[in-house]
Amino acid sequence: MNLCNGSHIVFIGAGSNVGDRLQNLQHALEMLDELPLTFVEGVSGIYISEPLGYTDQDWFYNAAFRLCTGLTPERLLSYCKRIEVLIGRPADHPRWGPRVIDLDILLHGDTVCNLGHLTIPHPELHNRKFALLPLRDLADPVHPVLGKKMHELLESCSDRSIIERSDHTFIKIR
Ligand code: AMP
Repeated sequence: MNLCNGSHIVFIGAGSNVGDRLQNLQHALEMLDELPLTFVEGVSGIYISEPLGYTDQDWFYNAAFRLCTGLTPERLLSYCKRIEVLIGRPADHPRWGPRVIDLDILLHGDTVCNLGHLTIPHPELHNRKFALLPLRDLADPVHPVLGKKMHELLESCSDRSIIERSDHTFIKIR
């Protein structure tokens, strides 16, 4: 049953490799669920992935959340940035460096946009197993530009980094 009448189905990717990584993801989940016009209706498994780019840093915990929201992509992005700061991420962080929390809007309904500061679908989604695997858990949505489901994008993904599903789960929020 789709309870998201009149709103958008949105998928947020979350990652953390500093501090209590699981707790950071859990806090992000709870804060997203408290946003106006928004509730979280699904959570993926929690994955452990090796860092890309700058490799001298801890491994990441990654997950994705399925939201039902009436927020526009831009409002949601600004809330995501606010949540990142509240959880403890400095506003000026190195692009490939360690991060307390990283929240990306991976998909926002069928929205396709490139506003410079905001690109949807996320421009790296199809290149990253740590984004594709959690989305496959969440009903395997179709990429609105590439016209393929997440499991199909995984088959053609060139990302060879190590990623494993962990036994951890989120604490239920309702
Ligand atoms: P990052 O270092 O991965 O957290 O990148 C953050 C920047 O990417 C933000 O300041 C956003 O303006 C920009 N950005 C572009 N598209 C997106 C998106 N779909 N979701 C989140 N951030 C995005």
